[in-house]
Amino acid sequence: MITALGGGVGAAKFLSGLIKLNLNEKINIIVNTADDITVGGLRISPDIDTIIYTLSGNVNTDRKWGLEGDTFNCLAALSRFGIYGWFNLGDKDLATHLYRTHLRSLGYTYTQITSKIAKSYGLDDLNILPMSDTDVETWISTNKGEMHFQEYLVKEKMLPEVKSVYIKGIENAKASEQVIDSILSANTIILCPSNPIISIGPILKVAGVRDAIKKSKAKKIAISPLVGGVPLKGPADKLMRAEGLEVSSTQVAKLYQDFIDEMIIDIKDKSEAKRIEKLGIKTTILDTVMKNEADSINLAQKILKT
Ligand code: GDP
Repeated sequence: MITALGGGVGAAKFLSGLIKLNLNEKINIIVNTADDITVGGLRISPDIDTIIYTLSGNVNTDRKWGLEGDTFNCLAALSRFGIYGWFNLGDKDLATHLYRTHLRSLGYTYTQITSKIAKSYGLDDLNILPMSDTDVETWISTNKGEMHFQEYLVKEKMLPEVKSVYIKGIENAKASEQVIDSILSANTIILCPSNPIISIGPILKVAGVRDAIKKSKAKKIAISPLVGGVPLKGPADKLMRAEGLEVSSTQVAKLYQDFIDEMIIDIKDKSEAKRIEKLGIKTTILDTVMKNEADSINLAQKILKT
């Protein structure tokens, strides 16, 4: 059994390769939900949806989020009322958020809701698990004030200067039984190339997760989301700096040092290998840039062989 932890796009790219290997083992994916936001009364789980849309072959291949062939008529109509015009919600995508919110109002947990959405997208064999059934949200303190992470990312285009990051509600977040079981029963645990502060970070902060990973007898591998010392997309560098951290794969390894056996770094960062090995972590240098599905398959195959 393989259990992966991840956020949205970086994780989805890697996992699309991993599932194409058609391994004869169950794959569990524990997904960050700290990116979640309520827009116009609808609860949106961007990372969960990116994983489901990508792995089911429905993601918009240019944007790498949202659904292929979607339109934005409802969003245009909403902007008339001056609300949330900045958050890109496609018309077909809205159906997912309506369904999620509807099921929540009926008392279903995020774990149950995610399973239903994944199944309806044909992902019956995968076990996609939200990191927690509790509401958690990442907020960013900037020189333009405090804002939800999505507002910083989408509306403000990552331009404000980040002062600090805080995960609202994380202190009350507990891991579900399924999350803990998937960690304890795994023979391999993979930390996908996802943002260490706002994707992997929140998952590890959910009560019970880090301890379960430490306890698990699985081989634990982390893939750095930095290539040539910078993220391929997103604000990992800005957020790491705001937390007073060096922006490097070595620093990413240090964040997971208490439990990982192996760190995968990109060939562009090969000069860091010795520093990471000194932390007592086996370090493997690979081409980690996934430009297409063949790259993702190749990377997944090599990682499982190391
Ligand atoms: P989200 O998609 O914004 O939720 O963000 P994630 O937490 O999934 O991660 C985005 C991170 O994925 C960024 O730091 C990227 O550098 C990293 N990433 C995206 N594509 C790749 C890739 O092909 N290779 C590697 N090594 N990292 C990647």
